[in-house]
Amino acid sequence: MEKMNSLKDGFQRTIDYMRISITDRCNLRCIYCMPPDGLNPIERKEILSYEEIVRIVKIAAEIGVRKVRITGGEPLTRKNITYLIKNIKNIPSIEDLSLTTNGILLSQYAEELSDAGLDRINISLDSLKPDRYREITRGGDIHDVLKGIEAAEIAGLIPIKINMIPIRGINDDEIGEFAKITLNSPYQVRFIEFMPFGTEDMWNKEKFISTGEIKSIVEGIGPLTPAKLRKSGPARYFRFNGAAGVVGFISPLSNHFCGECNRLRLTTTGRLRPCLFSDTEIDLKPALRGGAPDSEIERLIKLSIEIKPQGHNISIQDTDLKKLMYKKEHIRLMSRIGG
Ligand code: SAM
Ligand code: SF4
Repeated sequence: MEKMNSLKDGFQRTIDYMRISITDRCNLRCIYCMPPDGLNPIERKEILSYEEIVRIVKIAAEIGVRKVRITGGEPLTRKNITYLIKNIKNIPSIEDLSLTTNGILLSQYAEELSDAGLDRINISLDSLKPDRYREITRGGDIHDVLKGIEAAEIAGLIPIKINMIPIRGINDDEIGEFAKITLNSPYQVRFIEFMPFGTEDMWNKEKFISTGEIKSIVEGIGPLTPAKLRKSGPARYFRFNGAAGVVGFISPLSNHFCGECNRLRLTTTGRLRPCLFSDTEIDLKPALRGGAPDSEIERLIKLSIEIKPQGHNISIQDTDLKKLMYKKEHIRLMSRIGG
């Protein structure tokens, strides 16, 4: 059998996963992700076209990328997303194509996304209470998200993954309710540690809750047994006895998974970012728009993998987390980087 290409970085990690942010726009303004009035939008002409994105993915797939996740901003706010999904799905060596969404527009798109070839979906949901959900998202209607989850299940976009970020004083009293969803629904409910992005009123140490604390709250509902899932990525999964679904814990800060990191990020404007926590990026746009051959794009992709740092070394004990959150010219935010 012909051996598939694989890409190794300087620390012998296989890099086979690309996260692509297709827009900086969003129909929500989550309190931990965006300022109330949103961000200055990136000029349209600076944003990669679908054709440019597909070209990058084709080249990356030839050298070893196998998994792609579409994100943003809110990816479902970009027009004609099914065109992009179809064209990425048509790339033979892409084995897994998924999307992260806030779910607001999902009931409208679930079926066409599935028909276009999307395999799976992650839905971000930080409260089950309508009023609180509206406050956290500054205006979102939870009923739209719940309809979206139902539509995604019907469309076969499974397993449904629900991502919750517990934030102290905001939604930490709902950790148990989220975990209980898995008792009767075959979902993966994943708790993700709140990461230091944005301004100090968005993130501060007091609001952070470690996986250890989240897990002990979940264990208050009943004993957990480790669950081995085929594709687990950075999450550690567990199941309540007899439960239909699983709970997962993702600990970027308290127990970082840099040693297993297999990903590259492509920003909305065409920069390859090898590490979420490092601002080092390789800009593909000049080559893409300057008529460079595929071999040059390939060289730049390989270069971004060569410079992928070993790890982020950021810990909650750091007194200097502000350095991470701010840069002189802009605030670092997940919606900009591509969460
Ligand atoms: N709009 C889509 C959504 O909300 O799912 C996709 C983009 S959003 C930036 C991707 C993910 O980043 C969401 O699950 C969101 O909760 C997460 N996120 C944003 N800011 C975060 C932070 N400071 N810490 C942890 N996760 C964060
Ligand atoms: Fe928008 Fe997602 Fe950020 Fe919320 S987390 S503001 S939905 S990009």
